[in-house]
Amino acid sequence: ALAVSLRGVTKTYDNGVMALGPFDLAVRKGEFISLLGPSGCGKSTVLRLIAQLSAPSSGIVRVARHEGELQPGHGIGFVFQEPTLMPWANVRENVRLPLKLGGVAKAEGRARADAVLDRVGLADFADAFPRELSGGMNMRVSLARALVTDPDILLMDEPFAALDEITRFRLNNDLLALWRALGKTVIFVTHSVFESVYLSQRVVVMTARPGRIQADIRIETVEP
Ligand code: ADP
Ligand code: ADP
Repeated sequence: ALAVSLRGVTKTYDNGVMALGPFDLAVRKGEFISLLGPSGCGKSTVLRLIAQLSAPSSGIVRVARHEGELQPGHGIGFVFQEPTLMPWANVRENVRLPLKLGGVAKAEGRARADAVLDRVGLADFADAFPRELSGGMNMRVSLARALVTDPDILLMDEPFAALDEITRFRLNNDLLALWRALGKTVIFVTHSVFESVYLSQRVVVMTARPGRIQADIRIETVEP
């Protein structure tokens, strides 16, 4: 079954920049794919189209919906490179936010936030504030916030690019373990060839703007 499909999709922004396409991509449920390509080739645009934060200029974007959806976009979690945590709220409240917006009661929301914080290795930091945590830990909080609604699809836009190499490698390993445990569909944008091959089952390489598909490569993983 497909999680996401884009068919003949183009995107031209209001300023006349043709960012994308025509672009065709089908992602199966549970697949972990990377999008690789030069700066400005439309990788973030692809994620925004899938998240329905932006509408295509032409073509069709389809996203599989799951049952009991709270609101549009509930089936999708989004992680950005830039810190988007609320500095005045503690880690638990940051992670609980999507549930709060979805009308989930406070006690249940806090319990679910604590459970997902445990998953990302931050069980002891629920009461801390973002400024008290390292960049890698803040990224874990962002990941927890994206996972707290239990989305089917996780979109990640160069999430680890600003982190030092060791922190980045640890996060890669933890993300892989989470993906194996949770079975989400992951679409991961990166500039790192290493990261794309290490993490994903499939690497999609895009051309320079307007982004089209240059190569779609299956990665054979050798299990340890
Ligand atoms: P990438 O993520 O591959 O770096 P983006 O999808 O962010 O590429 O951008 C693709 C192109 O579209 C770039 O030239 C960028 O400047 C332009 N662009 C992105 N967002 C907007 C926007 N909201 N308005 C106008 N142009 C945009
Ligand atoms: P990325 O680092 O993911 O490639 P960019 O730096 O291209 O992203 O863009 C960051 C943000 O700025 C995006 O939300 C994008 O929509 C917006 N943006 C990028 N280029 C333009 C532009 N030319 N005009 C307006 N907004 C833009």
